[in-house]
Amino acid sequence: SEERSLNFIEQIVEEDLANGSTGGRVLTRFPPEPNGYLHIGHAKSIVLNFGLAQKYNGATNLRFDDTNPVTEDTEYVDSIREDIKWLGFTWQQELYASDYFEQLYQFAVTLIKKGLAYVEDATAEEIAAMKGTPTTPGVNSPARSRSVEENLDLFERMRKGEFKDGEKTLRAKIDMASPNMHMRDPLMYRIKHAHHHRTGDKWCIYPMYDFAHGQSDSIEQITHSICTLEFIPHRALYDWFIQELNIYPSHQYEFSRLNLNYTVMSKRKLKQLVEEHHVAGWDDPRMPTISGLRRRGYTAASIRNFCERVGVQKRDNVIEYSLLEFCIREELNKTANRAMAVLDPVKLVITNYPEGQVEELEAENNPEDPNSGSRKLPFSNTLYIEREDFMENPPKKYFRLGPGMMVRLKNAYIIKGESVDKDADGNITTIYATYLPESKSGGDASGLTVKGTIHWVSAAHAAAAEVRLYDRLFTVENPGMEEGDFKSFINKDSLQVINTAYVEPGLLQAKPGDRFQFMRKGYFSVDPDSTSEKLVFNRTVTLKDAWAK
Ligand code: ATP
Ligand code: MG
Ligand code: MG
Repeated sequence: SEERSLNFIEQIVEEDLANGSTGGRVLTRFPPEPNGYLHIGHAKSIVLNFGLAQKYNGATNLRFDDTNPVTEDTEYVDSIREDIKWLGFTWQQELYASDYFEQLYQFAVTLIKKGLAYVEDATAEEIAAMKGTPTTPGVNSPARSRSVEENLDLFERMRKGEFKDGEKTLRAKIDMASPNMHMRDPLMYRIKHAHHHRTGDKWCIYPMYDFAHGQSDSIEQITHSICTLEFIPHRALYDWFIQELNIYPSHQYEFSRLNLNYTVMSKRKLKQLVEEHHVAGWDDPRMPTISGLRRRGYTAASIRNFCERVGVQKRDNVIEYSLLEFCIREELNKTANRAMAVLDPVKLVITNYPEGQVEELEAENNPEDPNSGSRKLPFSNTLYIEREDFMENPPKKYFRLGPGMMVRLKNAYIIKGESVDKDADGNITTIYATYLPESKSGGDASGLTVKGTIHWVSAAHAAAAEVRLYDRLFTVENPGMEEGDFKSFINKDSLQVINTAYVEPGLLQAKPGDRFQFMRKGYFSVDPDSTSEKLVFNRTVTLKDAWAK
């Protein structure tokens, strides 16, 4: 919103624009690794990067950080593009770090020639042992004293494929005693004889994140390279490479990553949930992925609004899942048409309403939106109501239906409970009631006031539906931080499938993605699993925060 104060990154941008240090430009980038689907944490980064560019007349590049051939796939590239577009953002250029492989190789050669990089023979374990600890200096590798000529030759042979995976690496020659462990001769290249989803088998050496990321930023002349806090110790290295290569000085700024309670937010963990079939897919409506939230019924605006409310901080924190739910509930209250759906039906017969007569009743689509219009609802002598809306021996303050009790049928009439039929087990099979013809909604002349209003559908007209109710995917607030396997905290009751539902007939026209408020039941959206025979609805969120203390 316009009124909030500037966050610290906006302050930096405004200073840079004022002092001209970026030449009056703002160019940000969103740099996903195509190794999974985007999640709500990525949405925060997207809203921040694209939002900054929008605010300061700049632009944002979409750069796939595809430097690890083993984990990456074009399925992920496609889903990432789709999700960013759906969130409402347009990138200036679509770029791939892999397009810079030749340039990055040349940068490495430049550093070797300057005596600032060397080919290492030691194994990963040996390198780790030589690194020392944060409180003790490391030791120089014997390879550190190799001549420039020998390094150039070995690095070229690494590229040509003369060595096996792990046999050689390229390291930056910085300072094995640096208090910053990332500066103790970090790896720049490793050998991986693996097929890359874009470059195929052209390369068998791949740049490390630290060598690829900053140089890619610099090649694109990114002005503000925004990443999450864990990259703070990498910043010195980011700056070192740029300085020693004497290339465009992009700058890195760090903000706190989004953490949400009762879920996990790492692609590696989300991938496990998918591959081990704990969920139906990346877009399972219980997943914190953009595609999962979309299928659940979240709108792009509600996600953007959530990211804005969360804000941009320099300290890590955990955001309540209920804030995300608040954002969608608030929006759908204003925009979703109301509809009636009975999830656990019991038959109700109105004994004094003429059998076979069908009346079209007028129903307001959305009382919160004067432009939403109204619809016709068929009414007849045989309805379905929720089983829980009738009690034979109701307690005090039960303002629904019972023998001799009156209740209003939404958009219809006041009825009075009379008697019931039961099966051999004592379950109610039919409720009999009488109605007051003069009590019709919109023209009630009965003079009665009843406390309760219940929803219903006409049995002969209703459409059968499957309704999927969701709960938290995990039983603990921070499943990623608990001891043991995070999957042992999966909520076994996170999905409840209801196959008995009936909805008002107008919903047969609904299309996947359409959103409704089922009166008294919550907000729902039509799932793509729907067929012409059977509608499937996902509950996006309940009407009230079920978890509020
Ligand atoms: P993950 O651990 O989920 O795989 P990642 O950081 O490895 O996350 P990337 O594809 O590299 O995933 O992320 C692309 C961008 O999104 C990066 O700039 C990263 O900092 C940002 N990002 C990822 N997760 C979050 C989060 N939870 N909150 C804010 N930004 C995030
Ligand atoms: Mg990453
Ligand atoms: Mg990752």
